[in-house]
Amino acid sequence: MNLFGYIKGKIAILDVIGTYTTLKKAGLYWKGTCPFHHEKTASFTVSPHREIFYCFGCHAGGDAITFIAKAENCSPMEAIKLLVDRYGLTLPDNLVTDTDSSSLQDKKRYYELCQQVAHWCASNLAKSPVALSYLLERGMDKTTIEKFNIGYFPGGLLSIKNLIASMQKQNILATDLIEAHIITPGKSVLYSPFEERILFPIKDHLGRFCGFGGRIFKPQDDRAKYYNSRENDYFNKGSLLFGLDVAKASIQQEGSVFLVEGYTDCIAMAKHGFINTVATLGTACTIEHLKILSRYAHTLLIVYDADRAGQEVGSEGGRAETSLCCRTTPWAGMVHRGTRHRSGRQNSRGAQCRDIGRSPNVPSCRP
Ligand SMILES: [Zn+2]
Repeated sequence: MNLFGYIKGKIAILDVIGTYTTLKKAGLYWKGTCPFHHEKTASFTVSPHREIFYCFGCHAGGDAITFIAKAENCSPMEAIKLLVDRYGLTLPDNLVTDTDSSSLQDKKRYYELCQQVAHWCASNLAKSPVALSYLLERGMDKTTIEKFNIGYFPGGLLSIKNLIASMQKQNILATDLIEAHIITPGKSVLYSPFEERILFPIKDHLGRFCGFGGRIFKPQDDRAKYYNSRENDYFNKGSLLFGLDVAKASIQQEGSVFLVEGYTDCIAMAKHGFINTVATLGTACTIEHLKILSRYAHTLLIVYDADRAGQEVGSEGGRAETSLCCRTTPWAGMVHRGTRHRSGRQNSRGAQCRDIGRSPNVPSCRP
């Protein structure tokens, strides 16, 4: 058996395609809207028994590998590498070719490093009554903390030493941590911009740890409220959405997705039963974000503060995005949460909804 046959035997085409578009059973086939062309009526089909897909609208068709190559805009060999990585496949020796390239190894190592840092921060949160009570006071219970892998990065030289020692046990070196910008060499010592911050790990839609958002929480801390991981090959704020790995199944089930502005808003929504919620990473919503969301949902509900929502829609970029939104989804609804006072607290008007049939009881969370 060749490499292509081996890979196809190890993965289910429905699984592969199901992460790009929502499929529903229709007799022998599964049907959904095509991820390759804009359409309102589903004309994209998958035949699991024949392991192929075909779109009656744009005539795209092929097997799981062809699908990935088209969806990710890469060569069939790169699509294989991606599937091997995504599904954690181990290739038999006789089929190991150049799939085990150094760039794939680097990528895997980076995700592993971020995951280990997230675990270390989670264990530190459990040991820090101050950080823990900050989260509990903001309504985040233990289940929520675990679900979103929230952690705490303690401060001080001893903590950095502790982190390095702990990572060494996982074969991760201090130089790897420096390269990933988790720690930074100062004038005489190593330090981290994440020190004394609550850490929100940011994962991609496959649940791989790509980076972090760190928030200050001590009243006397006057640094920037958030510090996010630096952009790199695997951490791109314009294409990542916080919470998507947790929300994905629910988004597909509901056919709709709530888009909020921040990590804490997203967590508050999920805690109040709106599991189909994702957040941008402190940046404007990009066309890439909308493309990703349109793979899973036909309706996008934007829950932004009134002032910010106004800016986004009013800006040229916002208008371009909204029109794309309308092309990829029937419409984009706007939910305006009450305007925030200068102090940053939400006012008592609560949620005001427009263009939405049912008014969701959007939970408030402290900024
Ligand atoms: Zn099509």
